[in-house]
Amino acid sequence: MEAYPDPRSPWLAVIGAGPAGLRAAEVAVAAGVRVTVFDAQPSVGRKFLVAGSGGLNLTKSVPGERFAAQYLGGPAGFWAERIAEFGPEDLRAWAADLGVETFAATTGRVYPRSMKGAPLLRAWVRRLRERGVTFAVRHRWSGFAAEGLRFATPSGERLVTPTATVLALGGGSWPETGSDAAWIAPLAAVGVRVEPLAAANCGWEADWPEAVRAWAGTPLKNLAVTAGAQRAAGELLLTDYGLEGGVIYAVGAALRAMAEPEMRVDFKPAVEAATLVRRFGAVPRGRVEAELAVEAARRWRLGPAVAALLAASGGGDVAGLAVRVKNFPVRLRGPRPLAEAISSAGGVAWDEVDAGTLMLRRQPGVFLAGEMLDWEAPTGGYLLHGCFVTGALAGAAAARYVLGS
Ligand SMILES: Cc1cc2nc3c(=O)[nH]c(=O)nc-3n(C[C@H](O)[C@H](O)[C@H](O)COP(=O)(O)OP(=O)(O)OC[C@H]3O[C@@H](n4cnc5c(N)ncnc54)[C@H](O)[C@@H]3O)c2cc1C
Repeated sequence: MEAYPDPRSPWLAVIGAGPAGLRAAEVAVAAGVRVTVFDAQPSVGRKFLVAGSGGLNLTKSVPGERFAAQYLGGPAGFWAERIAEFGPEDLRAWAADLGVETFAATTGRVYPRSMKGAPLLRAWVRRLRERGVTFAVRHRWSGFAAEGLRFATPSGERLVTPTATVLALGGGSWPETGSDAAWIAPLAAVGVRVEPLAAANCGWEADWPEAVRAWAGTPLKNLAVTAGAQRAAGELLLTDYGLEGGVIYAVGAALRAMAEPEMRVDFKPAVEAATLVRRFGAVPRGRVEAELAVEAARRWRLGPAVAALLAASGGGDVAGLAVRVKNFPVRLRGPRPLAEAISSAGGVAWDEVDAGTLMLRRQPGVFLAGEMLDWEAPTGGYLLHGCFVTGALAGAAAARYVLGS
């Protein structure tokens, strides 16, 4: 365990060694402030490493306005300002400076060439140490004390007295990585309002009949989904419990807002219903309706999983089937558990912080960053990018606070 900075001279405590906390530490140390990063876990950046295990999607190469529009939550103009300050190309240049070359896939998603998070995290932590940042792991922040911060450590409770603090404690998904949202209680104890955490970028459950469940594991490609005012195009994955995939993640906020969540799937977004009917041609004699659905799925090249969905949803004539293919209702039971989700919606309410500095109004000198704030974004690199830019804002403001003290 490394020693804490001398409490007689000003310093900044960053709690939470995920991307938001590390970025806050980086910006603060560059501003000339002494920084110690604390984390409850025995090592840093565990969720970042999990994110890297399936290909670390760092950011997305799309124009600033379109980029900022992906974020839900936060005051008007907040994300546009952040992305104007530090956009996708800046993040790529930052990674290159660490020796990590990136590439943009045809979708615009940006990944390290190795696809992994570990080399980037190693280089980042090494550079932070070289610049003077110290790390104290196995330090679980348990709340505020009159004089500072309380930590549970292997050698008992410790009281730490920094000049300012950045809390970057993450959301509530994948608690085994350390992001267990246990920070809600100590913040609530000082009156800070937290919007309940909810699973975001997650699968949803549906009551499939057996004939549909038999196709679990089948990707459903080239479709479009509408839920309330949200629409997304791409791919879904049929699972035994319901649906997964980027398209359902993208409409999750709309589904969560519905008392009885339902979405509509267009299995043939590029073709009109009338064209489908024409393409079907002559109706085979003597076909029962369920067989007609299977035949339609075959002639419209929809695949056997969609055929099973159509057949299970009731038969109908060709015109009726065409309408259903274009506007197929899927009732959902609810989201998968938060622990499984890629991210969480909800978090510290925006009216609890000053949006220009991310300082808690009730706790001067305490700044917030990353997923623990009440915002959400779809997958595609927007989550990590959001953590970087809020980390930078909090780190810079906290450094000014320390230097001015
Ligand atoms: C499977 C998976 C894949 C993902 N893939 C991507 C992707 O490709 N692209 C993308 O943009 N996003 C991805 N994400 C999301 C992304 O990883 C998170 O949004 C991001 O890590 C959040 O960063 P953060 O710094 O806010 O918090 P975290 O990374 O969660 O870090 C919070 C840190 O705080 C520590 N901590 C918590 N409580 C305490 C406490 N009381 N005391 C001390 N320390 C504490 C934790 O140990 C943790 O190290 C993925 C997430 C998952 C689960």
